[in-house]
Amino acid sequence: MESKEKSKISIIVPCYNEEDTLKLFYPELTKVIDSMKNIEWELIFINDGSKDKTLKMLKELQQSDARVKYVSFSRNFGKEAAMFAGLEKATGDYVAVMDADLQDPPTMLVEMYDILKTGEYDCVGTRRVTRKGEPKFLSFFARLFYKIMRKISDMDIVDGARDFRLMTKQMKDAIVSMKEYNRFSKGIFTWVGFNTKWLEYENITRAAGKTKFSFWKYFKYSIEGITAFSTFPLVIATVIGILFCIIAVILIIVIIVKTLLYGDPATGWPSLMCIVLFVGGVQLFCTGIIGQYIAKSYLEVKKRPVYIVKEEA
Ligand code: UDP
Ligand code: MG
Repeated sequence: MESKEKSKISIIVPCYNEEDTLKLFYPELTKVIDSMKNIEWELIFINDGSKDKTLKMLKELQQSDARVKYVSFSRNFGKEAAMFAGLEKATGDYVAVMDADLQDPPTMLVEMYDILKTGEYDCVGTRRVTRKGEPKFLSFFARLFYKIMRKISDMDIVDGARDFRLMTKQMKDAIVSMKEYNRFSKGIFTWVGFNTKWLEYENITRAAGKTKFSFWKYFKYSIEGITAFSTFPLVIATVIGILFCIIAVILIIVIIVKTLLYGDPATGWPSLMCIVLFVGGVQLFCTGIIGQYIAKSYLEVKKRPVYIVKEEA
């Protein structure tokens, strides 16, 4: 066993205003990784434009622990960008992504590594089977989102899947090769394929600090996910359009026949108004859907970088 070459594991941790949690996270994580033998470690912290002392703490960690590296963004680019930056920087044979708030238990890394080591799987993902401690209405919408997502994209995006995972370098390279600007990682992880094994665990609430996600952020995130991985909403717009044309043709025939039979008394203003408003609404809705895709294409075409680094080490 001793002669076996050491594997290297990179751990990517996006941090946005995590001064309170890093204090708890780092000791917890090191406790786990120090207990795993024959492995070389690389801890990559991404400071996603934090406004608190996160960067200062990361610098201190980097000074005191040779395994620690950090990338600091010029502003807040979002968790997706942070994960991407980490994946690009990672050099390990295995690469893990985890949150800084201890909602992703570091102890699971041991089990994840044991599974990957056998070579049977390329990735070990985690999913929460409960959403304990999360606002009820948020859980409701989250479940709804995954249900819709599974129906309208061809991909099986697992309900409650977290970004916490350990994957092989090969899979990481595949993900890094996807240079899209609108990054929806849950979709990207699925899109690249490979064999993923899912570990289940109960939801754990944040160790400290506050969540960076609000209902509005999650809403935008879900629109992002849908537009990035499905064109089904465009089909809805088309179908509604066709349906309305058919209804219009039928109504025209009805009106012509009625006029021929009974003459043309000028009635029906209220119903006319309703129809005008309704059709107007549907048109705007469909234009909005198309607009979403155009907006995404616009951002994609501009080829802006996903993130900008201010300093790293
Ligand atoms: N995060 C980030 N950039 C952001 C928002 C969040 O890097 O703009 C990080 C955050 O520091 C944490 C992880 O993403 O490590 C998950 O964030 P959070 O715990 O707030 O989300 P939740 O677990 O509530 O979904
Ligand atoms: Mg969290």
